[in-house]
Amino acid sequence: MNAAPPPMCFRCGVARELVLVSPLGPGLELRQYTCPKCGKVLRLKIRHDSARHSDGA
Ligand SMILES: [Zn+2]
Repeated sequence: MNAAPPPMCFRCGVARELVLVSPLGPGLELRQYTCPKCGKVLRLKIRHDSARHSDGA
């Protein structure tokens, strides 16, 4: 269980806070981060390695 560190806000140079995680499908989820300083939202699609590697076609 080693979660990736939250991305930094490019403007403020501070770590963003993870505010929302929504599943997109098997092995895929959407994480929403906001910057505590400027409040800008960043959405990241995260892939789980635990899922089977079968993304073709
Ligand atoms: Zn910021």
